[in-house]
Amino acid sequence: MTETRVRIAPSPTGPLHIGTARTALFNYLFARRTGGTFILRLEDTDVARSTVAFEEDILTGLHWLGIQWDEGPDSAGGEDRGPYGPYRQMQRRERYDEAARDLLARDLAYPCYCTAEELEADRKAHEAAHEPPRYVGRCANLTAETRAAKEASGLRGALRFRVPPGVVAFDDLVRGHVEIDAFNLGGDFVIVRSDGTPLYHFVVVVDDAAMDISHVIRGEDHLSNTPKHILLFRALGHDVPAFAHLPLILNPDRTKMSKRKSQTAISDYLAQGFIREALVNYLALLGWSTGTEEEILSLDELSARFDLEHVQKGGAVFDRERLEWLNGQWIRKLEPDDLIERLEPFLQRELDAGRIDRLPDPEELRGLLPIVQERLPRLDAVGDLVGFLWVDDLRPDPALLVPKRWDAATTRDGLATARETIAATVGAVTFEADELEPPLRALAEARGWKVGDLFMAIRVAVTGRTATPPLFDTLVALGRDRTLARLDRAIELLTDVPG
Ligand code: GLU
Repeated sequence: MTETRVRIAPSPTGPLHIGTARTALFNYLFARRTGGTFILRLEDTDVARSTVAFEEDILTGLHWLGIQWDEGPDSAGGEDRGPYGPYRQMQRRERYDEAARDLLARDLAYPCYCTAEELEADRKAHEAAHEPPRYVGRCANLTAETRAAKEASGLRGALRFRVPPGVVAFDDLVRGHVEIDAFNLGGDFVIVRSDGTPLYHFVVVVDDAAMDISHVIRGEDHLSNTPKHILLFRALGHDVPAFAHLPLILNPDRTKMSKRKSQTAISDYLAQGFIREALVNYLALLGWSTGTEEEILSLDELSARFDLEHVQKGGAVFDRERLEWLNGQWIRKLEPDDLIERLEPFLQRELDAGRIDRLPDPEELRGLLPIVQERLPRLDAVGDLVGFLWVDDLRPDPALLVPKRWDAATTRDGLATARETIAATVGAVTFEADELEPPLRALAEARGWKVGDLFMAIRVAVTGRTATPPLFDTLVALGRDRTLARLDRAIELLTDVPG
């Protein structure tokens, strides 16, 4: 086994989770870095909870992130690609049956006829004795006659793997040397249910063996499963792959990341306007670092630099602020056409929600990029930032219109004189930010107003908001006519406000 072969083995029982995406990414990067092969295998044996919709969410989410696999099903319900197929466990049943028969024939596994009641009584006895639960071995040494008699009476046994005594040791590529006494594995464990369904520990090993997986890179929550897997690899007569257990992703309160406390579905990040470059970059840093100060890295740069040596042991706290910051950095790097294209669905969403009245055309959007691109933390912020440009009938809230230190009368006065100043000083020919600012500053000074108050009143009058791109760029984007009309409208709105 010289070739590097790694895999991600998601179960389609939920949408693509941050943790799965991170594991997929680390496997992908490891494969790219080492010139190896990255496999996607669907663990779809939990028939009750697996759906095609979740499969679709996982596969399209990984495609969207740019994490491409070399072998496996390309799309939900789609064809397999690669020489080790099928890559869906439901289609690999004969292989598990064959491996089970083999272990049984070599007495490395045995049928267990214990009833649910017996197992429950064992569990209670252990509990009463303050011992961890373990299988007591009731069926471990049944004679061939006893087994035959049970089968003849219609009983079907579950298949239990015989856990050999001794210490299981391995050198995890992240965690270092790990040793676990097989006695602590809970006794002989079931690998195939009495109804014939093979269970996780068994199928994962049968598949990793059959697919010649060289490195199992997965979440630390699987660390305690690894001794069982190693014993199964040995029993199946297969080389044991290398293991690398990635640190858990934690909520900010350092509990294990959960849906309840954090946003975990990749599709939700996409819907909020996180871009793939930023998410990939962020996911790579969830438990790995360059070992330098550098933190903005593209998928290609990551592929060239990733190594398991710099994966940390301790949990990786999910820091949403850092992700947003990275997202802003990556948005700034986008080419104008690319950004325009990516903004379009978010503007459409603003239109559909009735927050704007029309869509800007790409040229209009391009003209705005100098004031927008620097300021977008996420694509979905575009409506908040500049949506006021595409609203026909802007009606600012009179309460917002009046700056804190001003009353309604001062605001009316301020807006009216600002309107005159703008109309008089700036012709219709040019309407530039640097032409607008000096006369309005002079006006504030002449009247003894704080410049900030006057500018805030104008800002709210023309945008309806207190936080916008720089005021004069905003006025330029609106154009002379709309600026004057919006000032008129605001003055009108204030006429009925007392003071
Ligand atoms: N389906 C398992 C999971 O998603 C795979 C575990 C493994 O990689 O062995 O957690």
